[in-house]
Amino acid sequence: MQVNGQSECKQCLLNSSDTQYISFDAEGICNYCNYYATKIKELGSWEKRQQSLYDKIYQIRKSGEGKKYDCLLGLSGGIDSSYMAILAHEAGLRPLVIHLDNGWNSDIAVKNIEKICQKFNFELYTYVIDWEEFAGLQKAYLKAGVIDIEVLTDHAIYAILNKLANKFKIKYTLSGFNYETEAIMPKGWTYNKRDFLNINDIRKKYGEGLKFKTYPYVNFYKALYYFWVSKLETFEVLNLIDYNKEAAKKRLITEVGWEDYGGKHYESVFTKFYQSYILPVKFGVDKRRAHLSNQICAGRITKEQAIQTLQTKPFDEDSIKDEMEYILKKFNMTSAEFEKIMQEKPRLHTEFDSDQRLWNRYFKIVKLLKFGK
Ligand SMILES: [Zn+2]
Repeated sequence: MQVNGQSECKQCLLNSSDTQYISFDAEGICNYCNYYATKIKELGSWEKRQQSLYDKIYQIRKSGEGKKYDCLLGLSGGIDSSYMAILAHEAGLRPLVIHLDNGWNSDIAVKNIEKICQKFNFELYTYVIDWEEFAGLQKAYLKAGVIDIEVLTDHAIYAILNKLANKFKIKYTLSGFNYETEAIMPKGWTYNKRDFLNINDIRKKYGEGLKFKTYPYVNFYKALYYFWVSKLETFEVLNLIDYNKEAAKKRLITEVGWEDYGGKHYESVFTKFYQSYILPVKFGVDKRRAHLSNQICAGRITKEQAIQTLQTKPFDEDSIKDEMEYILKKFNMTSAEFEKIMQEKPRLHTEFDSDQRLWNRYFKIVKLLKFGK
């Protein structure tokens, strides 16, 4: 398929067969590359970023005066969030470290989290979701055939962060999100992580009677409350420093005894299988294409190097069978059931209910009230 007579970006690896939302400018550069450039430009010079960093650290410390913690830090055990812990310690911050146990964390990731909290004397709060419940929700997503199964984990983290922020009157949460490695992600490869009605509708239709017991969620009304009352602000620290993943990894290994576990977001056994097998095989989506494109934009690798990496299989052919066996056993699912799921046609998240209709109504009322004055 061609968009404006072009099918592939001149700079990155994205093309119109992979993403229906791609467009190209007069120079043949895609909207995702331009988004990256705009975001980096908005961050400004290094002097400006350093000043913003100092200002924000001061604000966070000030907001925490007289309180047990001054910020929250969600820790997965992966590089980005682990490195955030080093930075928080250096900045003299007192985070409450939060970890979600959804039953899929790799042993290495859990050890990394423990090492970090011990080293920096950070308090760790681990939220455990009932395994049968979480597996049931994930199976409902697999059966529904929607693309973003990770919504379930990300929504739960969002819910826990807000709940604890509200409980301890914490105003800031540190985030490891950064444009350097995560700005580029085609729309359509993921879904809105905050949409509770979408989760609930998929649960109702495919969850085989499953009820919420321990799964933490934020419905529309709670979201409004958090927005107006808690006002938890996300601070993307890594955007303000010269973040180099390799250098960060080296520091983590030497200073904390952190252990490497392979690919991006492979700290979770499920995420690894989802990204390297389910997404490419069922949905034709290889997230490495986005991650590598991001690295090209950041000037870390050349397009030729990226193409070479992409030519290798997204999964390890020697170990994928064992991984699948492990996952299916944990899910209590037969190979035939899984095969059927993999063969079925994908469905869009938008085919299910969404919080969006409530937000639309809310914004309509807000607009009416404004004009009514
Ligand atoms: Zn591009």
